[in-house]
Amino acid sequence: MRFASIILTLGLFTSAQATTLGNILKHSGIVIQECAIPRTAALTFDDGPNDYQIASHTWTHPDLTTLTDAQINEEMKKTDEAIEAILGVRVAYMRPPYGAVNANVTAVAKARGQDVVIWNLDSQDWNVTPAESEAIYNTTVATNPSTVLALNHETYNTTATEVLPYAIKLLQSRGYKLVTVAECMGSYPYQWAHLPARNLSSYKCT
Ligand SMILES: [Zn+2]
Repeated sequence: MRFASIILTLGLFTSAQATTLGNILKHSGIVIQECAIPRTAALTFDDGPNDYQIASHTWTHPDLTTLTDAQINEEMKKTDEAIEAILGVRVAYMRPPYGAVNANVTAVAKARGQDVVIWNLDSQDWNVTPAESEAIYNTTVATNPSTVLALNHETYNTTATEVLPYAIKLLQSRGYKLVTVAECMGSYPYQWAHLPARNLSSYKCT
């Protein structure tokens, strides 16, 4: 039922960046640096599997700006197909490793019906102490931005145990509504959805 309801709601979610083709929602390759819905904050997490915000982060984590169009497409395609086989959804957003984007990356993303999500707050959690990440949240929120689109990594324990509890409390105390990237864009996270592949044991992530 869950998947059926996802398919049924597809037509209800549209944004300036997306067009619907029947039950398919195509995104147009824009680079998203901030949310479209005022007073929303989206916390994103790179580099690990995540239960709630599924999007593509490429297959081998390369700097996509160093690749040919065909290589960029291969990085996205392999990831899209694996996610679709396992979860039954075709993702509508991708995060380029290192936030590295050029015209080739956006063109390939557009051809694949996806938008490219970067950020307007880099927690630097891979590079600095939790206290320093928290200071980055403080500094950003002090400027009262309309929206917050924050980059974090779920591969660091202290991000989950220290930085995030702090950031969530801070953002909520300043009146931001915590949402997913799709919600912060007034859109939908997937281009289409169906039941996962029935025989995953035969699926090879090659
Ligand atoms: Zn990454």
